[in-house]
Amino acid sequence: MSGLIDNISVIWDRLVALFSSYNIITDTLDIALVAFLVYSAIKMLKETRGIQILKGLVLVGVVYFVINLLGMQASTYLFKTLLGDFILVLIILFAPEIRHALETMGRSRFTFLNIFGAQQGDALYERKKKAVLEICKACNSMSEKKIGALIVFERDTMLGDVINTGTKVDASVSRELIGSLFYPNSPLHDGGVVIRDGRVCAAGCILPLTENNGLSSDLGTRHRASLGITEKSDAVVVVVSEETGAISIACGGELERGVSDGVLIERLLDYISPDDSDKNKISLKNTVINKWKEIRKK
Ligand code: ATP
Ligand code: MG
Repeated sequence: MSGLIDNISVIWDRLVALFSSYNIITDTLDIALVAFLVYSAIKMLKETRGIQILKGLVLVGVVYFVINLLGMQASTYLFKTLLGDFILVLIILFAPEIRHALETMGRSRFTFLNIFGAQQGDALYERKKKAVLEICKACNSMSEKKIGALIVFERDTMLGDVINTGTKVDASVSRELIGSLFYPNSPLHDGGVVIRDGRVCAAGCILPLTENNGLSSDLGTRHRASLGITEKSDAVVVVVSEETGAISIACGGELERGVSDGVLIERLLDYISPDDSDKNKISLKNTVINKWKEIRKK
């Protein structure tokens, strides 16, 4: 009984010591930050296969605790050796999730972070706009000829992983180039083309397929790949169906099927310049749409 009272008094002393040195600002911020990080990590893992790994790790932890308790020396030694550098093990196991979390953070619109790569300004917007116009022309022509196409517009989330699965191109966008990349039996016609900053960055890229099992059965792998990449990033994808010639747009894991060419250009211009409050950009957008209408009349 006296042992229990001693233990309680030790715990009480420690609590008093802890709270007497509690700094209301830094410690509260510290706790809030850790709670936020843990909450975000669990939330993110719940949405990915990382939760399975986490469950596996918890199981390994329980087994380790039990064998340690039972004094099973050989097994304990094995566990200690395998999981010696636990932090390194965690980093290797959760590399994709960590990368995704950092990408999501980098996607935030802190303009000062843009010095790390994103080109800004009217010249870039001008190039993206021209690319959209050329891609709309190409899609229109591929749709009429029923040539399948998959075009990914990279936005804030960098698509390095996807680009690395294909062949680097780095060329300015033209209707002719897009048409020849998807031309049946051409070397790069399989897979997707990635557009980065208004230039053709890579072709023949493999995209992740959607994890949504409730999709209509008439959607094949091309359409499922367009959804897959938009579930994992903020990319916008244009698909031309080889079977029907229909043009679809995928964004945020949603597919808008059978869009007209007028809608296609409007959507793409909206996506590359979401800042519609900028009057200058609205007028630039209208100029492109009018240009497109003139092309369509011919
Ligand atoms: P379509 O309406 O054009 O037939 P679909 O949605 O029915 O499209 P499929 O007929 O399965 O799809 O299209 C197959 C083509 O889609 C492949 O030849 C390839 O070019 C492309 N494709 C399939 N999977 C992927 C992927 N994971 N990443 C990139 N491209 C893919
Ligand atoms: Mg098909």
